[in-house]
Amino acid sequence: MTRCVVCLRTLPPDTGLHACAPCLDQLRGLLAEIPRHLPLLALLLAPAAGVRTPGASAPAGRAHSPMPLRLDVVTLLGPGHAVRLPDPHGDQDPTVPVQPLLHGWATYVASQYPTVHRDVHGTAHITPGTTPRSRFGTGPAAWCHWLAAYLPFAAGHEWIGDMHRQIEHLVRLLRSKTDRPPVRTPRSAPCPACEAFGLVSTEGEQLIACTACGHRLTPADYREHSAAVLPALTRLAVLHHAEHDNTRRAS
Ligand SMILES: [Zn+2]
Ligand SMILES: [Zn+2]
Repeated sequence: MTRCVVCLRTLPPDTGLHACAPCLDQLRGLLAEIPRHLPLLALLLAPAAGVRTPGASAPAGRAHSPMPLRLDVVTLLGPGHAVRLPDPHGDQDPTVPVQPLLHGWATYVASQYPTVHRDVHGTAHITPGTTPRSRFGTGPAAWCHWLAAYLPFAAGHEWIGDMHRQIEHLVRLLRSKTDRPPVRTPRSAPCPACEAFGLVSTEGEQLIACTACGHRLTPADYREHSAAVLPALTRLAVLHHAEHDNTRRAS
């Protein structure tokens, strides 16, 4: 029995996968979310100038100049190493910045990806190891797009767990700086698994998830399910409303 390395759900047998469809969908959503934080992060680079009341006198001078840039934001946006380096003195910031983390994973995935080339005799040789290239450039958004495209390949390896953990950690950090969580839209139909009205669509994720029981369904399955249950539920709601109105008039 194989379990998802992220959430430990049991996986269907003989698929060769190490991550379940919901966790892969979540990772796809996290990768789509990263580029949305970057312009906000750039705005946060300069420390808040402070609000001055109109007409108030100029602030008194300070003993020290303020820091010209926010170091926590510079750390995230700046260059760095894709892996944590040994830190014998414990004085290094352990954060792996956005670009090195994404490019580091793209490089690793590409190094594992089998490439085929034919020699002069026409014999095909399969070798792992290539350099990642994206038609969207070399910035963080390009690598997010690239990694999302290679998720089906990455899902066949145990290191998908490390990739999910590190990308999720990065996104949590970005959300804590920019205060911009993904937009969640509640859906009208109840969950087909637990009947709670807890289904939501999350920006960047394809699957619709139940916040009560964790059940997930595709947009096509949701459309079919809502077409089957919503007309009856709407009729019930209208009847209930009419009854309530009648009771109010009679009293
Ligand atoms: Zn999972
Ligand atoms: Zn549910």
